[in-house]
Amino acid sequence: IVAGGVLMLAYGLLYFTVNRHLRDIGKDRVSLNEERFKSITEIFGGFKEVKVGGFEKLYIKRFEKPSKHFARVDSSASVIGNLPRYFLEMIAFGGLLLVILLLLSREVDLDGVLPVIALFAFAGYRLMPALQQFYLYSTALRYAGPAVDDLYMDLIPSKSKSESSIQKPPVSFEKGIKLKEVSFRYQNSPKSALDKVNIEIKKNSIVGLVGPTGSGKTTMVDLLLQLLKPDFGIFLIDDISVEELDKLSWQKKIGYVPQSIFLSDDTIKANIALGCPEDEIDCKQLENAAKIANIHDFIVKELPYGYEHKVGERGVKLSGGQRQRIGIARALYHRPQLLIFDEATSALDNLTEKTVMESIQKLGEEMTIIMIAHRLSTVKLCDQIYFFQHGKITDQGTYDQLSKNSQTFKEMTLKDK
Ligand code: ADP
Ligand code: MG
Repeated sequence: IVAGGVLMLAYGLLYFTVNRHLRDIGKDRVSLNEERFKSITEIFGGFKEVKVGGFEKLYIKRFEKPSKHFARVDSSASVIGNLPRYFLEMIAFGGLLLVILLLLSREVDLDGVLPVIALFAFAGYRLMPALQQFYLYSTALRYAGPAVDDLYMDLIPSKSKSESSIQKPPVSFEKGIKLKEVSFRYQNSPKSALDKVNIEIKKNSIVGLVGPTGSGKTTMVDLLLQLLKPDFGIFLIDDISVEELDKLSWQKKIGYVPQSIFLSDDTIKANIALGCPEDEIDCKQLENAAKIANIHDFIVKELPYGYEHKVGERGVKLSGGQRQRIGIARALYHRPQLLIFDEATSALDNLTEKTVMESIQKLGEEMTIIMIAHRLSTVKLCDQIYFFQHGKITDQGTYDQLSKNSQTFKEMTLKDK
């Protein structure tokens, strides 16, 4: 008990001394890691820009500084955890030796005390590793604390949200979508991205959203996808507020093609059927989707392994237009009821775009399509076009109506030609 008590006290005191420092370097580690990963992501994300601009040294420096600091912090946490083992061992056994030497010098009869000293030595020898482990893991916990806190704060709110949506009834989507007087402002942004917008989208119609960059089209799509929630106004599906409906069931009905397509370092097949387990991929559906997206011929004729061809990290082995068409095929693969294109054909040449648009128009009868487009020729076939300016809808109608009535639309049409 005495040996255990003394050792515990020593470790306790040690822990008490390093406790705050560990928490501080734990916080440092989180922010240093953030810096490290940020610079790495930026380098790989803007690889060509960095290379051409000659920013390599700058980025290396940006990575080097937090990296060195991180290495120091990490090793000091490791030293704090491990050093006491040697340190305390030295003191404890050194102390015992000292006691024996002292006794020897005073010519005390060692026969009586040696068993007691041996007992203490043995007790210490057995107890120390256990206490050392206990101390080591306590410091590790302390050091990792700030990172765990961060994770906790990120994960817990989203968990409770997804739990609450389980009980809501699923979306059926029989008639259409309405957005009434919807406004949205991004956090820390001075002006509204959308201001009292009214939109109605009938089922199986094709709707176009046009307007200059920054006018709020993508924000509108994010609201439709329920990635964002409007600050004011209501969003109705079949005249039922989305608040009362299951969000996931709505998102599952949507095929979304964003402006820049994310491709994973995998085969064409896996990229089109993204998220689908390998053995559950429906090859017929896959080919069908690729045909509509006008990429099937390219995959079969020009890629050595066809659908099994690997696209490389972020799809580096494909051109922008090919990536976009894979994105379109991906959206079509799951046979969505609502298809949303956010400038998804901007990287295609005119002829390819026309072919893709025509095959998509054929789908129009069984699919609702929302199209955001730069080129006005793309939205010619829409049943209804909404013209966005500064977060407001300034004009709406068919292509012919708009080209007759709207001055700005006319100007855009002229530029387009
Ligand atoms: P569009 O798609 O029509 O080009 P966006 O909907 O992307 O326009 O953007 C509308 C406005 O909202 C722009 O003024 C833009 O600067 C702003 N914005 C877009 N995304 C964000 C964001 N994540 N945070 C703050 N402001 C944003
Ligand atoms: Mg946009």
